[in-house]
Amino acid sequence: MTIRWGLIGASTIAREWVIDAIRAAGGEITGVMSTSAERGRAYAAEHGIPQSTTDIDELLSGADAVYISTTNELHRDQAIAAVRAGKHVLCEKPLATSLADAHAMADAAREAGVVFATNHHLRGAGTHNAIREAIAAGLIGKPLAARVFHAGLLPAHLQGWRLDKPEAGAGAVLDLTVHDTDALRFVLGDNPAEVTAFAQHAGMGKAGVEDGVMGVIRFENGLIAQFHDAFTTKYAETGLEVHGTEGSLVGRNVMTQRPVGTVTLRTAEGERPLQVSDRNLYVNAIEAFHRAIAEGTRPLCTLEDGIWSLATGLAVLDAARTGRTHKVEPGIRA
Ligand code: NDP
Repeated sequence: MTIRWGLIGASTIAREWVIDAIRAAGGEITGVMSTSAERGRAYAAEHGIPQSTTDIDELLSGADAVYISTTNELHRDQAIAAVRAGKHVLCEKPLATSLADAHAMADAAREAGVVFATNHHLRGAGTHNAIREAIAAGLIGKPLAARVFHAGLLPAHLQGWRLDKPEAGAGAVLDLTVHDTDALRFVLGDNPAEVTAFAQHAGMGKAGVEDGVMGVIRFENGLIAQFHDAFTTKYAETGLEVHGTEGSLVGRNVMTQRPVGTVTLRTAEGERPLQVSDRNLYVNAIEAFHRAIAEGTRPLCTLEDGIWSLATGLAVLDAARTGRTHKVEPGIRA
């Protein structure tokens, strides 16, 4: 069965990645919803989408699933409307701007019995899967520490609400730290327990919006993970490292949307590159979503995973604001 998708939000991420990924995974895009009729029409024409509308009910009537990629304060009501109409939902990260909103989404999704996934695309990366498999196979022994380098330059065409709209979830933490958290949970198979952080305002973020942050997450099993996220560093390289009792995994150029990067394993036997898949991350995520609808399997990243990353991001913001360590308390109900 071909899944019919409606796009909620005429966004950049859909334009650059997700429209192509839905089609590559065998889905059909039936409509796009925008708050601007004119922009919606132009967007639909540009991408060969048959319908554009400003009315969510009209969009939902022609879809089996929706992809929500509006700004973050809008995700809650749009997701709840979609699940109440019986539609499956792939929602962008952060799921919402508060845990209460994310839980309201979870309650509605549970009641509706639909598939609901969070688009932490890095779970679809060959490099992240190679790191996860190497850890699970015991190649580095017991993981003790991790480092995430996710600081770059926010491209000019994305220098909008991320820098000046706190109510939309602006800032490096809800944009980037949430990805770091999910990537660490994915590769380690462990949950964050508490965080500490310092945020920075280096001239790019407006109205008190942080444009850089460094911090440490302590995981439940004792591992400590250091992270650096920023919009301001023009020449930095991204990376993900996990260091264990018997070896280290060094991922370079791996915190990215593109299917690139390398992973090196270092042990007493020396150094060797790990084989990594170069499949498109977003196609992997949409294919898993389609399978979840058809076969009842788990999407790459669940709604609960999205609540964990949001809870960690919010704890990082609290820690940066107060100068104190904060516990990560997702409040996930069974
Ligand atoms: P955009 O700013 O491109 O889109 C967000 C909203 O802005 C759209 O829904 C649209 O509103 C409006 N908009 C878009 N273009 C214009 C314009 N030219 N003039 C006025 N309004 C416009 O955001 P992104 O695509 O960067 O991010 C959207 C969501 O996706 C966020 O939740 C973000 O965190 C997430 N994201 C996730 C990524 C991932 O890889 N997982 C990567 C990038 C973003 P309307 O609904 O009215 O059409």
